[in-house]
Amino acid sequence: MCSNQTNEIDVKRHSTAHVLAMAVLDLHPDAKLGIGPVIDDGFYYDFETKEPITEDELKKIEKKMKKLISQNIDFEKTELDIDEAKEKFENENQKYKVELIDDLKSEGEETISIYTSKDFSDLCRGPHVKNTKEINAKALKITRLAGAYWKSDEDREQLTRIYGVIFETKEELDEYNQRLIEAKKRDHRKIGKELDLFTFSDLVGAGLPLFTPKGTLLRDTIVDKIQTLQAKHGYEKVTIPHITKKELYETSGHWEKFGDELFKVKGQTDQEFVMKPMNCPHHTQIYASTQRSYRDLPVRYMETTMVYRDEQAGELLGLSRVRAISQDDGHVFCTPQQIESEVQNIVSVIREFYTSLDMFTEGNYWVSVSVRDPKEVDKCLGNPKDWDLAEKTLEEIAKKEGFNYKIVEGEAAFYGPKLDFMFTDALGREWQLATAQLDFVMPERFGLEYTDENGDKQTPVMIHRAIAGSLERFLSVIIEHFAGAFPLWLSPVQAVVIPVSDKFDDYGKNVVEKLQQAGFRAELDNDSETLGKRIRVAQKVKTPYMLIVGEKEITDNTVAVRSRDNGDEGVISIDEMIAKMQEEII
Ligand SMILES: [Zn+2]
Ligand SMILES: [Zn+2]
Repeated sequence: MCSNQTNEIDVKRHSTAHVLAMAVLDLHPDAKLGIGPVIDDGFYYDFETKEPITEDELKKIEKKMKKLISQNIDFEKTELDIDEAKEKFENENQKYKVELIDDLKSEGEETISIYTSKDFSDLCRGPHVKNTKEINAKALKITRLAGAYWKSDEDREQLTRIYGVIFETKEELDEYNQRLIEAKKRDHRKIGKELDLFTFSDLVGAGLPLFTPKGTLLRDTIVDKIQTLQAKHGYEKVTIPHITKKELYETSGHWEKFGDELFKVKGQTDQEFVMKPMNCPHHTQIYASTQRSYRDLPVRYMETTMVYRDEQAGELLGLSRVRAISQDDGHVFCTPQQIESEVQNIVSVIREFYTSLDMFTEGNYWVSVSVRDPKEVDKCLGNPKDWDLAEKTLEEIAKKEGFNYKIVEGEAAFYGPKLDFMFTDALGREWQLATAQLDFVMPERFGLEYTDENGDKQTPVMIHRAIAGSLERFLSVIIEHFAGAFPLWLSPVQAVVIPVSDKFDDYGKNVVEKLQQAGFRAELDNDSETLGKRIRVAQKVKTPYMLIVGEKEITDNTVAVRSRDNGDEGVISIDEMIAKMQEEII
């Protein structure tokens, strides 16, 4: 069954899903059909077959589809009475279609539309192409197989999902294939292994990455950068334990929200503990530990710490989706009058951080001013006046900063409006990375207070903010964005010194020491490999600078510079090299 498609290519994509069903039924006449919707670039269809559909069979299915398309088959729409439709699909032994018809019936539908192409008919709302000659068989590709539960319900049957893509032209398909090749090359799991950044162990478990020394350097460099930027803006570090009584989350409301995703911990008593799925509730308790007056506000906490969420095994993917998530977390508690300057503060940190990655550039980012859906104002918790002011303030900041921004209605959290920063990576994919979210609800729930100028008790506003967000997800994004070739400030090893032979090891060590004293991460590679091999190794792990030293360099106190990005850069003194690197980092 399918939803209403309006755009032309989507109509073709969906019609092609019907052709896929026809091809599979031809090869597996017993196949029971699930659903076949349109997705990005293509479509899928779910099947249950007696003989499993194999990877090898995909080529055959694609060929069959192309043949069907070339037969100029008409799509014809008929409306059937719902009971008639049910009988038809019962006769065809299509139990999933029958179930869908029953669902529609219970929703009050009386008629069902059916699309027929040759001797195949499918329960469907359409629209479709009139004839398969509108579909360009040369722009079709069956891409992959996957398992999928009927109605996404783990307790229901597991079906085989076949994915395909279809475009208007062969050129677009070629471009798509090119993008796939590039995405594969940049896959963070592959690069993570090549650069020796992280690993997984069956003994530790899925979704629980282990970071190697190089990977940890990378993480620490990001965290240091964020914390240094924030310290300038008055943030102070705090530290909290990783388990907590469940009452904390019952008060915050997260107990209900996270439900099955919470890892529970049993101690010696009956007291129930959980691994923290977030840090905000803990930070409220540090705020609440002492009496606060308006003079103490704003209070700004920052902490990089792990949270734990029991994501479904099937959803885990490299660093993109993990069960132990390192958050660069931070919370501000302030008066309503301070919202503007505090959000401004956060925005400055976001701008500086992403500028250092060269990601905050025109056309590669936009900011969502996420506000209430005007139709659902009553669903949002908190005082409507506070909301009005906060939404206006966020927009003013976006305007004043000259951001490329959009007001997105209905994207606010139920507890407050927010600014979300979206970035486009080198493959043209968009990621929401940084955010500043106002919260009118949590301070209320925890009974947080401050005394105002008149001696009256008031509730502070809480601001949640993320600069990189989940470090694991952030790493997966930037590893793929940079294809492992990080900017100099972020590279785990910034320079490798390579003596042309072991006679020059001492001088090499001396160069490494000088670089380290200047604050750079430098290493010596005096392995017994050839010079060429050692340069290739450094290039493969994307080291920004390779400094080659031999007889001449010792005499002149210089290094021969080879850069990752520009190749041979000639011979310069060690001091010049240090100055060059320092300049690149600022
Ligand atoms: Zn359809
Ligand atoms: Zn928070």
